[in-house]
Amino acid sequence: MNAPAPKKLTPIARRGLMLVISSPSGAGKSTISRALMEDDPTLGMSVSVTTRQRRPSEIAGRHYHFISIREFERMRDSDALLEWAEVHGNFYGTPREPVEIAMAEGRDMLFDIDWQGARQLQEKMTADVVSIFVLPPTMTELQSRLHRRAEDTEEVIRTRLLNSRSEIEHWREYDYIIVNEDLDTAFDSVRSIVKAERLRRDRRHGLYGFVTKLLEEEPEL
Ligand code: ADP
Ligand code: 5GP
Repeated sequence: MNAPAPKKLTPIARRGLMLVISSPSGAGKSTISRALMEDDPTLGMSVSVTTRQRRPSEIAGRHYHFISIREFERMRDSDALLEWAEVHGNFYGTPREPVEIAMAEGRDMLFDIDWQGARQLQEKMTADVVSIFVLPPTMTELQSRLHRRAEDTEEVIRTRLLNSRSEIEHWREYDYIIVNEDLDTAFDSVRSIVKAERLRRDRRHGLYGFVTKLLEEEPEL
């Protein structure tokens, strides 16, 4: 007769991870974030509110919640936003409730937000935030990616390029820096970061019980 299969361990409980990804516009953070979500369906994406116009390829409620300035102010003033900022002349913010629910349930969440938002989350939720900054290989390549994306007007692209330098100046405030030259390599690096960060001792409160039980076990010699 075959020996019974060994019982599988229940996963060791841990706190949820808040993965923050920033970059100058066009460096590839949305592309990397999308790939990450496809690769790992347990990862939730924080859907921001914004007052900017919807791009042709964007779906309301999936990429952003597109709202009026008045509605944005109402949310901001009633503390419904975990963080918010003005970026390229529009308002953006992270709705508080979905994040609090995900964190309480120990689920991981991804945030595609700028350096101002990253700073606010790092201050408020220091232990849970892991931050990644994506750099383009060259400024010329950044410019061509913005043009290739072909979703913004020439004027919008110009503003974003002008703002890219001041965004890049904040690179030192992030835990990890990825130069997105080859997409597969960049994605692979981000995946490794997530994998390692999930194993950090200080996030895994379930280890206390696990190790206690482990040491109670006394196999017969
Ligand atoms: P961001 O979210 O940072 O503004 P996107 O993810 O929208 O940038 O990427 C901008 C454009 O660059 C898109 O057309 C995307 O397909 C392209 N892109 C992203 N990463 C790379 C890469 N490593 N090599 C070439 N093109 C890329
Ligand atoms: P885009 O208009 O290209 O979608 O985003 C412009 C910038 O706003 C990007 O740097 C993006 O990361 C940032 N952004 C998007 N949502 C938020 C948010 O909720 N908060 C903050 N602070 N920035 C955001």
